[in-house]
Amino acid sequence: MTQTEKLHLLHQLYQYRALGFDYIKHERKLAPPKVVSDDSLQTLSKTLASCQLCALAKCRKKVVFGEGNPNATLMFIGEGPGASEDEAGRPFMGRAGQLLTKIIENVLHVSRNDVYIANIVKCRPPKNRVPLPEEVDACKPFLLQQIARVNPRIIVALGSTSYHHLTGEFDSKITQVRGQVMDFGDAKLVPTYHPSFLLRNPSAKKEVYLDMLKVKSLL
Ligand code: SF4
Repeated sequence: MTQTEKLHLLHQLYQYRALGFDYIKHERKLAPPKVVSDDSLQTLSKTLASCQLCALAKCRKKVVFGEGNPNATLMFIGEGPGASEDEAGRPFMGRAGQLLTKIIENVLHVSRNDVYIANIVKCRPPKNRVPLPEEVDACKPFLLQQIARVNPRIIVALGSTSYHHLTGEFDSKITQVRGQVMDFGDAKLVPTYHPSFLLRNPSAKKEVYLDMLKVKSLL
């Protein structure tokens, strides 16, 4: 490991410690707190409201922390906020968000309010570009803390950016892994296509429908 890599790792470990992790056995093996309360998520949300840890802070309007049932069984994780979400400070608010809501309510038959929705990064990347690795490195500890506090049984990774950064499996394509049920700590992770992709490629809705039936069978 080079000196730069060591310093980067040390920086990440300090971030994890600042967020309350006592130890990390493996990135995909979290030790979620036993007691989960909305207060703890709210505290984290307040901490993040003025976050300046990466360059995305300069161009965002609002930090999009995430929302939903703090004790949700099911959690959806997308890539990052777009323009509508940046304006509203809420995740999945635009056309892709409307489609996600339809998928949750019409296929899974649960209310959007009963699931938890977050993103890999909490501030909008300029022109909706894919978040840079250093931006994800800075923001991901917050997401891991969020997952630990919600402690869902099932996580749906929406799109390749979410899948890659959650699992670290950068060599696998979303087309190959979508619909598979994977271990993610104590939870199950199911990758599928991002709703924005479905808006551009409506024919892929059939695959997402099948993936959601699999998710439904796990609920
Ligand atoms: S993207 Fe995450 S790490 Fe970067 S400024 Fe926003 S909240 Fe902070």
